Amino acid sequence: MAVFDAKALARIHADQAALRGSYRTKVDATPDIAISRQPVDGIISTPFGARRYVNGEPRSPHSGVDIAAPEGTRIINPRPGRVLLAESMFLNGNTVVIGYGRGLVMVYSHLQSLYVHKGAWIKAGETIGKVGQTGRATGPHLHWGVRFNNARINPDSLLMHAG
Ligand SMILES: [Zn+2]
Repeated sequence: MAVFDAKALARIHADQAALRGSYRTKVDATPDIAISRQPVDGIISTPFGARRYVNGEPRSPHSGVDIAAPEGTRIINPRPGRVLLAESMFLNGNTVVIGYGRGLVMVYSHLQSLYVHKGAWIKAGETIGKVGQTGRATGPHLHWGVRFNNARINPDSLLMHAG
């Protein structure tokens, strides 16, 4: 491992602080991937990245946001896209994955039923499904995950916040 003198170390730390600061700077999302609203209105019950434990065992950080809403609440597609997957899954329940192009993919889990089928094109504003609690869920909620170029990102970062 390289040894740096105090002056170099100070410079390295300052560089890292500058990078971290720039990464944190809020910029309105580009129109390419921004969306104006969540796919369902509700309360965020588990945020992105939350660390959870099951029987004392750590689980991987939460890969999306959980939005609690009454069973049957419509889940609205935020952008035009194509259904890449629509399946009933053991843990995730009825799950739909939609590709939006430009590396943007979203996953919607625990739906009440499967409304859309694989391969279908779906417009903005169309119904993806309804909030349910299929799979492993303690109550009705939408698990909403977003991947950008196959990296998990915080869905909240896509939302165009007023102000
Ligand atoms: Zn979840």
